[in-house]
Amino acid sequence: MHILILGAGVIGVTTAYELLKAGHKVTVIDRQMEPAMETSFGNAGLIAPGHSYAWTTPKLPGNLFSSLYDKKRAFRFKFQWDPVMWYWGIQFIRQCTQKKMAENTLRKHRLSSYSQECFHQLIDDTNIEYYENKKGLIYFFRSKASFLEGKQKLAMLKPVMNNLQILNREELLIKEPALSGAQSKLFGGIYCPSDESGSCRDFTLSLVDICKKKGAKFHFNTTIQNIENDTSNIKKIITDKGDFQGDKYVLACAAYSPIIAKMVGDYLPIYPVKGYSITVPIINHEKVPIHSGIDEDNMMAFSLMGNFLRFTSVAEISGYDTSHKPSDFNEIINIAESLFSQACDFSKVEYWAGLRPMTPNGAPIFGKGKIDNLYFNTGHGHLGWTMCAGSAKITSNLILEKKTDVDLEGMTLARA
Ligand SMILES: Cc1cc2nc3c(=O)[nH]c(=O)nc-3n(C[C@H](O)[C@H](O)[C@H](O)COP(=O)(O)OP(=O)(O)OC[C@H]3O[C@@H](n4cnc5c(N)ncnc54)[C@H](O)[C@@H]3O)c2cc1C
Repeated sequence: MHILILGAGVIGVTTAYELLKAGHKVTVIDRQMEPAMETSFGNAGLIAPGHSYAWTTPKLPGNLFSSLYDKKRAFRFKFQWDPVMWYWGIQFIRQCTQKKMAENTLRKHRLSSYSQECFHQLIDDTNIEYYENKKGLIYFFRSKASFLEGKQKLAMLKPVMNNLQILNREELLIKEPALSGAQSKLFGGIYCPSDESGSCRDFTLSLVDICKKKGAKFHFNTTIQNIENDTSNIKKIITDKGDFQGDKYVLACAAYSPIIAKMVGDYLPIYPVKGYSITVPIINHEKVPIHSGIDEDNMMAFSLMGNFLRFTSVAEISGYDTSHKPSDFNEIINIAESLFSQACDFSKVEYWAGLRPMTPNGAPIFGKGKIDNLYFNTGHGHLGWTMCAGSAKITSNLILEKKTDVDLEGMTLARA
């Protein structure tokens, strides 16, 4: 079977690899000049089933409302008239109950932990190097109130994860001595030994090379413009570089997937949530944290990427806008410097912003809509790197009409 994959981010490329392994002919098309140039480019790199909490908490609607006048909030909303955003936003806010938060967290964990297993298998098979850090992730808190909230959230994952460790401040500093410069600002932490980190972009680039050796064809600088279909099947994908045909198609265009799905009459509940990252060269390896992790009060992730430290923060609902200016990063730089001032050269910062493809319940969308030969593997929100290998396996199994290894409840278009 010839399968055409739309999108060469981490999701499209891992799907290509999985389908090649299953013996298919694979073609991938992407509008960028290289793989992983959009959301998979500058993410935090955390592979974190131990942090698969739903973003839709009961407190979120109030926080979003406050962000209209307090622009410094990490989770924020910029008022806009876009009806697509409002329609999606209503679905998103409806998930903000205690019950749905718990359900959504467990669902995301189910996929994330399965995916981590598949990812380890993939790495064993390919020996890809991606600046992996397997020392576990540290999630730390600055106040008693946030620490208590963190412990409450942890209770949701407790039934499925028995290795999460609660640390008081002294234990946190023993575990992660690089935080000692900021010790007066810290209250405690949670350590997850099985969570890890690495460079999503480097992984994706290496996997493309492997896919090419296995016979996959990649067409970059190729923008999907339209789809020709009848009521049940795609006939061809129309791009600015000509038409492409396959027996089956996989849609993996992240926040742009709804625009493409609309061409065949499907609605996908995915909307972009913008995030920002800085990547900073390390100048003193002795001051660098051993672990990657998250400063929970500031919603700021930090991650080791070889000779660089990456910091990411902010979840901004502001439409399809990836623009940024240096002043957008002042807050991230201030927080990063306050934690690891001696580790990096903060005068040499690389700036980036990307769009998380968020669904209301936080889980991606698999399976089909109205069209028989179009499969979705999209909408992975803030955990697409964590979920990539499992999502690829699920998609391959669906295409082969095999039973999937995980229950897809809440992960198809028939979602709660
Ligand atoms: C700030 C930030 C931090 C994050 N941190 C983490 C983390 O720590 N851990 C984690 O697991 N996840 C994280 N994520 C989420 C993760 O990065 C995404 O879920 C993941 O990259 C999505 O992969 P993708 O392949 O679906 O999207 P993308 O990488 O965006 O790939 C989609 C591709 O589709 C192509 N495309 C779109 N439209 C068209 C078109 N019309 N024609 C042709 N091609 C098209 C694009 O060029 C792009 O290459 C983070 C995201 C952000 C923004």
